[in-house]
Amino acid sequence: MIRLKNIKKSYRDLSVLNDINLEINNGKVTVIVGPSGAGKSTLLHIIGTLDRADSGEVWFSDIDINSLSEKQVADFRNKHIGFVFQFHHLLPEFTAIENVSMPALIAGKSKKEAEIKALELLEILGVAGRKDHKPSELSGGEQQRVAVARALINNPLVVLADEPSGNLDSDNARELHQLFFKLRDQLQQTFIIVTHNQELADMSDFKILMRDGKTI
Ligand code: ADP
Ligand code: MG
Repeated sequence: MIRLKNIKKSYRDLSVLNDINLEINNGKVTVIVGPSGAGKSTLLHIIGTLDRADSGEVWFSDIDINSLSEKQVADFRNKHIGFVFQFHHLLPEFTAIENVSMPALIAGKSKKEAEIKALELLEILGVAGRKDHKPSELSGGEQQRVAVARALINNPLVVLADEPSGNLDSDNARELHQLFFKLRDQLQQTFIIVTHNQELADMSDFKILMRDGKTI
C-alpha cells in the first residue's frame, strides 16, 4: 500500500538514504531498526511527506506524492498520516481532548464531531478519565497515549512513530506497544515504527533493518 522506489537522500556529501525500495503492508505493524545515524528518521520523514527525497518515488496506493503541489501534500499529510514522536509534542495550554481534537478541526470537522471521535479514541487508549487534564498533569505514559489518540483522529492511512517509547520506563513502554497491536487488530491500523526496543521489534509483523542508508 505504501511503496518507496529508488529513494535517495544526501546532506552535502553525506549519502543518508542510498536507493531505498520498500513496500509497507496495510493493517500491519512494521518496525524499522538499526544503529543511530543509519537514516531511520530521515526515511520516516520522507514517508511522512515532511521531507522530500532528492530522487525516487513515494506512493500511497495509486497516489504519487511527487505529483502533488505543496498545498496538496500538506492536506494529504493532515488527513492521511498520523505522527507520534519520542516527545509527545502536545500543546501545553490545551486539555487532552482538545489536543486530540485539533487535527480534526484543522481538517474541517465541527468541534462537537471532533470531540465525540476524540473521546472514543481516548477510551480505546485507556485515558478517557484524563480527558480534561493538560499535558503537564499527565504521566509520561498517559501523554504518549494521548499523542497516539491525536495521531488517529483523522483515520489515517498510516501512523508513523519515531521512537515512541524512547522516553518511557519499561512498563509504560510495554503498555504503549500493546496498544499499537490492539489498534492494529481493532481498527486494522497500519503502523511504521522506528524503535530501539527489542521487545517491540520481536512482536512486529515486519522488521526492516537499516544500516548505512540501506535496508536489509
Ligand atoms: P537515525 O534516525 O537512524 O539515527 P537520521 O536519519 O536521523 O538517523 O540521520 C542519518 C544521518 O543523516 C546522520 O548522519 C545525521 O547526522 C544526518 N542528518 C540528518 N538530518 C540532517 C540534516 N538536516 N542535515 C545534515 N545532516 C543530517
Ligand atoms: Mg532517529
